[in-house]
Amino acid sequence: MKAAIGIDIGGTKIAIGVVQEDGNVLAKFEFPTEVEMGPDFATEQIISYLTEILNKFLISGIGIGCPGPLDPRRGVVLSPPNLKSWHGYLLVDKIDSAFQLPIRLLNDADAAAFGEYFFTYRETYKHVLYVTVSTGIGGGIIINGSLYEGALSGAGEIGHSVILPDGPICGCGKYGCLETLASGTALNNIWKQRLIKEGKLVDPNWNSKDLFVKASENEPLALSVIEEASTQLALGLSQVIQTLNPELLILGGGVIIGQQAYFEMVREKLPNYLLDQHSQFLKIEKASQGSLAGMKGAAASILSEVKDIGGIPNGI
Ligand SMILES: [Zn+2]
Repeated sequence: MKAAIGIDIGGTKIAIGVVQEDGNVLAKFEFPTEVEMGPDFATEQIISYLTEILNKFLISGIGIGCPGPLDPRRGVVLSPPNLKSWHGYLLVDKIDSAFQLPIRLLNDADAAAFGEYFFTYRETYKHVLYVTVSTGIGGGIIINGSLYEGALSGAGEIGHSVILPDGPICGCGKYGCLETLASGTALNNIWKQRLIKEGKLVDPNWNSKDLFVKASENEPLALSVIEEASTQLALGLSQVIQTLNPELLILGGGVIIGQQAYFEMVREKLPNYLLDQHSQFLKIEKASQGSLAGMKGAAASILSEVKDIGGIPNGI
């Protein structure tokens, strides 16, 4: 069975895994990104793990998921906000010079989208929208069974769709992006601002999980915050669904996976903003690959393209 290496680069940690076509993870390593040490420091560690892996496994190629924006054709990390020291870094060249294997660089949300699609739904669906709601909101688009990445790996950046032009300022510099209205960070901020406005006591340690606990106790302010955010999220999702007409919407990320109430509210509201034929046709599922989706999806970007190079474990 074919196997590929998936690398998931994040602002705090990097995960590397050997992933088989059936989704089985044969080996997995994780270490801190240490952004302040710069990209060469992290890449040296990546290369050392890759050397170890390639001594033990037959590998079809290396897929790398990394926060965008990226230039996938040149293999360059452009300007991800949480990888400041990596801006303009020729990541693929560095790894390519050490190993003669196919290498593919893709946006981290796209990698997670493709991981969810490839390992759970590739036999059943061809047109899929994946959206993750956690501290931020990201997404990925599968068209005809292939990942649609856009010009700078930026397709599916639904978190930065402006929903409320006079809304809160976003990390991207715009106002009222979906991410500022319906992500875990947004829910927490909006809730605390409203509590302060009403002269109520705010514990600085509260986060969006506490908000959902209050809502489950039918606290009216908490309920109204979630109610509004779920409406904004449904509205944002509807724009993309209306444009792409997917068969399947996969919702993932800590806020959706951890909070069934939020998932249900969004699912109930979506039909309000969709053409009937789109909403009747659409299946909605929760993501199932968990925190490994990005790493597995990066590997899947290779597995889906390479036809016949082996991947049988050798000695482990
Ligand atoms: Zn934004």
